[in-house]
Amino acid sequence: MFGAANDAELVQPVRYMFEATPQAAERVMAAHFDGRRNYVEEMQVKTFDGRIVEVLLLVTYPQPPENLDTTFITMQEIGDRVAAERQLRQLQTDFAHASRISTLGELSTSIAHEVKQPLGAIMLNGGTSLRRLAQVNPDLAKVRHLLEKIIESAGQATDIIGRIQAMASKQVPKRAQVSLNSIMRDAVRFVNQECVEKGITVRELLSPDVPLICGDRIQLQQVAVNLLVNAIHAIEQQSGGAIREICVLTHLTGTGRVEFVVADSGPGVAPENIGRLFDSFFTTKPGGMGIGLAICRTIMHDHDGEIAATNRPEGGSAFRCSLPGDGS
Ligand code: ADP
Repeated sequence: MFGAANDAELVQPVRYMFEATPQAAERVMAAHFDGRRNYVEEMQVKTFDGRIVEVLLLVTYPQPPENLDTTFITMQEIGDRVAAERQLRQLQTDFAHASRISTLGELSTSIAHEVKQPLGAIMLNGGTSLRRLAQVNPDLAKVRHLLEKIIESAGQATDIIGRIQAMASKQVPKRAQVSLNSIMRDAVRFVNQECVEKGITVRELLSPDVPLICGDRIQLQQVAVNLLVNAIHAIEQQSGGAIREICVLTHLTGTGRVEFVVADSGPGVAPENIGRLFDSFFTTKPGGMGIGLAICRTIMHDHDGEIAATNRPEGGSAFRCSLPGDGS
């Protein structure tokens, strides 16, 4: 990590460790005189070959009857995690900005929730590692395991960022064999937190018989998320007491096409509007843009698919999307 040429370069007064962040040395001393058992800080170190590396500094101070002239200092390189967190913060800011013009903006709460989970796990496992290191005979195998889990969580956060970036950027459509069920599951995850907060139950009825389809995963996910967001809006228009439920289902039709349906318990679509829903800029919402369903239709047509809206006999609407099954 320090890029030292030999052991001797490292075995010298610790001044070199604090060259890039001299104030950290003061804080380490202050924590010692405050009688603290541990001190932890994220800081930068300058390596012998002149690089700046982000590290997590962990200091464990001796306490009587321990050997009082020995302080245990650990540094863990966290460059990737710091970069991921910085990227995350940037993304969250960008998302807040984009929410005014993008349907994806609706989802920033869910995204924040998703990324909080791995970051929370990192904090928790970091804390546990510290406590273990503070023990007289620390179980280093356990600590190693916890550090591996930290790296795993950082990887998860990076994956989430990747998914969000892919959804947010306009990409050239990529055709591949994709599983419709997993696309639907991912889409539901995106809106899950919002549904929980709004007391909406999401039922998933995903048929195991649905074959793989040829399509662009991100675009199809965008269709599903758009329909789910509209379903949430529709349910919100219902007065209290009514059933608040979204049903997401997939199945294989008799003609070998695969279908996914997003149905809701909202007020349904007024008969005079049903023919115009997919027109660009048709909206009945005060702040609506009326482009969500138009985009859905374009994406479905690009996939040789269809999208249609119906009102359900039991109330609410159902948006039905059908696609050719793979090989047909
Ligand atoms: P926006 O959501 O900005 O209005 P959309 O193109 O997504 O744009 O939707 C167009 C219109 O279709 C909505 O304003 C609404 O009137 C109607 N609509 C869409 N989804 C539903 C639904 N699940 N239930 C009832 N009406 C819907």
